[in-house]
Amino acid sequence: MHALTESQIRKSFVNTTLRERNSLTLPPSFAELDWDQLDFLAWRDPKLPLIGYLVVPIDDTLVGILLRQGQRQPRTRPQCSFCEDVQLPNEVAFFSAKRAGAAGRKGDTVGTLLCSGFECNANVRVRASAIFAGDDPEAVRQQRIERLRAHARGFAGRILG
Ligand SMILES: [Zn+2]
Repeated sequence: MHALTESQIRKSFVNTTLRERNSLTLPPSFAELDWDQLDFLAWRDPKLPLIGYLVVPIDDTLVGILLRQGQRQPRTRPQCSFCEDVQLPNEVAFFSAKRAGAAGRKGDTVGTLLCSGFECNANVRVRASAIFAGDDPEAVRQQRIERLRAHARGFAGRILG
């Protein structure tokens, strides 16, 4: 994705109050992000442990989404619905997000299972082992990147309603 400025990020949020948007803390590594390696930007709020943020580019617009980690977590280790990583290098957690606009103000939410530290961008870029990738690991890697983009856009679409 293209590099974003702080003001682009703050303006992108579709399911926050103005106060939440203005008070969100950017990722600690913001200045050093390698944007070429990202299909979306996602991070945990360094000050609010159960809050995360997701910024998904869809064509020329950005859809910023505030996520809340659920208090109740799945008992068996589930698969992340964004990267679908089968090698499970990290924890997966249940998050919910308010829908944009009037639906969200009425309390309508959308839930999803995601890598708990949003490791998805890195996970899909790891070259899969031959067991999973057969004889063309690079093609498999590209397909996983495409699928990750599609899942992130699909989730953002459900938030927009
Ligand atoms: Zn993931």
